[in-house]
Amino acid sequence: MVYLAMAKQKIAAAPSVRRLPLYLQVVRQAQREGIQYISGTFIAQELNLKPIQVRKDLGMTPIIGKPKKGYPVAPLIRAIKYFLGWDTTREAVLVGTGNLGTALLGYQKLQDHGLLVVAAFDSNQEKIGSLIHQVPVFSVETLESKILTWGVKIALLTVPSHAAQGITEMLIKAGIEGIWNFTNVKLKVPDRIVVQKEDLSSGYAMFCVMMQARQIGKDCSRSLLPQR
Ligand code: NAD
Repeated sequence: MVYLAMAKQKIAAAPSVRRLPLYLQVVRQAQREGIQYISGTFIAQELNLKPIQVRKDLGMTPIIGKPKKGYPVAPLIRAIKYFLGWDTTREAVLVGTGNLGTALLGYQKLQDHGLLVVAAFDSNQEKIGSLIHQVPVFSVETLESKILTWGVKIALLTVPSHAAQGITEMLIKAGIEGIWNFTNVKLKVPDRIVVQKEDLSSGYAMFCVMMQARQIGKDCSRSLLPQR
């Protein structure tokens, strides 16, 4: 019951959850520099946020700060990792070892955050039987039986969009409970399956809008300069 309430709280606080990895980076840097206590104000300054926002976000984790001292660094790291579930290892498979799949297999940070990709699947005969970043690639035809045997519950989906729904159905039959979907397809899945859709273009859209705003700002300040 307590875990369900915690899970609901995490989902409701999605923007706060997205900020926690940034806090973790700042706090880890502080730890490398030998700092023992870190304040919410310092974290906020480093990330261009408001201190109250940082304190509210950190309030979701089990950490308690000390007045005038801030948060003890090592326990704060443990508290953030605990809240994110990054203190335990989860096994996962990846389907589609193309450009993106290969990049993800080589991304060490996933493992550092407790996501261990134990195997990959592909339909390309040339890739089957190979190792990509030490991860073995199997035929997609063996996906269901292998995942069922291993009991893996998480899949990263990096196949072309036309293959996404079909592979998803195979993954569900194989007992997968969570899909990190990198394709642009809105997957049709039963309610019990967790899907997180990842899209670089959302970040890129934000970047473009910020660049446009910067240009408008420059143009405006130019027009405010005294005319000769
Ligand atoms: P890619 O063509 O390089 O790789 C696709 C891989 O999937 C290949 O290895 C191919 O053999 C394999 N494949 C094809 N059909 C399959 C099937 N039925 N079963 C198993 N494997 C199969 O493509 P990519 O550039 O790596 O992109 C992969 C996916 O990621 C695409 O859907 C693309 O739109 C998406 N993508 C998303 C983002 C993002 O921001 N989320 C960024 C880039 C790409």
